[in-house]
Amino acid sequence: MKTDIKSLTFEQLNNEVRRLSLPSFRTKQIYKWLHESGVSSFDEMSNISKQLRENLSDNYYISSCSIENKYVSKIDDTVKYLFKLSDGEYIESVVMKYKYGYTICVSSQVGCKMGCTFCASTLAGFSRNLTAGEIESQLHTAQKDLGIRISHIVMMGIGEPLDNFDNVITFLNNVNNENGLNISMRNITISTCGIVPRIYDLMDLNLQLTLTISLHAPNNEIRSNTMPVSKKYPMEDLLAACRTYEKKTGRRVSFEYTLINNVNDRECDAIELSQKLKGTLCHVNLIPVNDVKECENIKSTKQNIEKFCNILKRNGINVTIRRTLGSDINASCGQLRRLKKRGDFIENRC
Ligand code: SAH
Repeated sequence: MKTDIKSLTFEQLNNEVRRLSLPSFRTKQIYKWLHESGVSSFDEMSNISKQLRENLSDNYYISSCSIENKYVSKIDDTVKYLFKLSDGEYIESVVMKYKYGYTICVSSQVGCKMGCTFCASTLAGFSRNLTAGEIESQLHTAQKDLGIRISHIVMMGIGEPLDNFDNVITFLNNVNNENGLNISMRNITISTCGIVPRIYDLMDLNLQLTLTISLHAPNNEIRSNTMPVSKKYPMEDLLAACRTYEKKTGRRVSFEYTLINNVNDRECDAIELSQKLKGTLCHVNLIPVNDVKECENIKSTKQNIEKFCNILKRNGINVTIRRTLGSDINASCGQLRRLKKRGDFIENRC
């Protein structure tokens, strides 16, 4: 079976170049085509001889993803893609425009095993991990389609990045490489539901990225009702890991808190959350829950969200209410794949 050449690190590619008895300057050349230019065929590598291109394609393939559907928000130019992979699976990415540049939200798995009750990614089931090359291909395809350069990455699409640890690390390694897209670790965010041992593995690598925890509850009891991961890795252990992460890397941890009416948005929840987070160098992002048909998510009222925010502020917690982008295009993760799998019509296609 052929190997995905785009899922190799620079060092691994260099070993392959040596194995094929090629001169070492080829490594940089091939790597730049794959990661900086994002080519999807060996024939596009125009400074490489036909013979070598044939040799490479006999041994390797280049992972890629193609645009199945594309949706552009009429409100704020957010673009959401439903991408098709070579085996017919679907994943989603969202490109958002901010003052400082373009951010892409990428998927890390086809589906998700984590089972959070409010999340659409879980509904369509888990198929497989994405390869490092497939995660990166989301950037290449979006950049080419939009004619832009993406400067920031958030791993908040379909899947749990820390449940696909090795491939995600290879992906980070490659997008960060100066011969590739050269995106600074400081511009990359990994979001996790809280796989505690992998958080320790991540801090051992001492990368300067931002770690975001999907917390969504003030205590383990409420958290376990909506996030099964909390039964395996209790919230106390998760918060302890975050404090260690902060000490070890010197980087502030972010917490996502999706507000669901009468589930986690009461005054007592805000007070309990403040107590739990006091003394932790962190930032809390409050998010109104997105509607997902089967999940019966009931949004908190604007008034409740503001009240919740103010309680945190009064207790000295750094907190913001997240601006919603792309609200007219089903921009929250997993919704398009689920509709596609069910064969439903998806609105707002352009
Ligand atoms: N598995 C990772 C990353 C993917 S989810 C994680 O759990 O962090 C990205 C973010 O969207 C998470 O914070 C997740 O909890 C949140 N999310 C999922 N469904 C949502 C919904 N219906 N409304 C608002 N946020 C949602």
